[in-house]
Amino acid sequence: MIPPIGQAGNLAERFRGRPPENVLAWVLSEYHPRIALASSFSREDIVLIAMMTDIRADARVFALDTGRLNEETYEAAEAVRRNLGVSIEWHFPDREAVEQLERTKGLHSFRESLENRHECCRIRKVEPLARALSGLRAWVTGQRKDQSITRAALPVFEIDGAHGGILKINPLADWSDEQVRSFVRERGLPYNRLHDMGYPSIGCAPCTRSILHGEDPRAGRWWWERPEHKECGLHQSSHGADRKEPPVPPLGRKKRDR
Ligand code: SF4
Repeated sequence: MIPPIGQAGNLAERFRGRPPENVLAWVLSEYHPRIALASSFSREDIVLIAMMTDIRADARVFALDTGRLNEETYEAAEAVRRNLGVSIEWHFPDREAVEQLERTKGLHSFRESLENRHECCRIRKVEPLARALSGLRAWVTGQRKDQSITRAALPVFEIDGAHGGILKINPLADWSDEQVRSFVRERGLPYNRLHDMGYPSIGCAPCTRSILHGEDPRAGRWWWERPEHKECGLHQSSHGADRKEPPVPPLGRKKRDR
């Protein structure tokens, strides 16, 4: 059931303790087709794709093909496309920027310095993400709080100041890894084989490795860097010191789909 929309308070308060399906039903009714899920084809993303397509078969999903993804990730994307009947909106990096980067700095410049790593992520991820988000009023991610210290304060709703102040929704922020696994198991969803190979986090092949039992879930991302640097620039909005509360849409502004 969709909670009633109050005039006061904020979305975080309104949906406190509500399951992700309720959050998604509401945001899809408010923002579709100007809302989409950003998918890296992690377990979390596939859970959200299943939830969203349960609500609307035409829910939008986009993905960034950095040119450096694992084959297992492409296989997971295809399994999702076939099994869940969803069209994946792929976005690629700017060809000239990649050519310039590889011609001048080689294929592994990201290992040489944090600056070079950020440059590669900017070209292959951040700029394509900005294109994917242009025209949207909201986007959905599969981030969870317990994935890393950089996500410990992750809210379900936040304002994405880096992308024009659109709404960013993290419906699984409070879910545990076990909840995600259970959902995949019970629904018989396809998932990325990398998870069975010790990869809790899905990213580019040269910058992601498997982790040991007990290691931080993000330990396999850019493992040569300090933990507080382990983000690629895709998620730099409001959780943390500069957090802002999202605006509350007025009552009855739009007819709901369900
Ligand atoms: S994760 Fe690695 S390969 Fe992928 S865009 Fe960032 S630096 Fe480049």
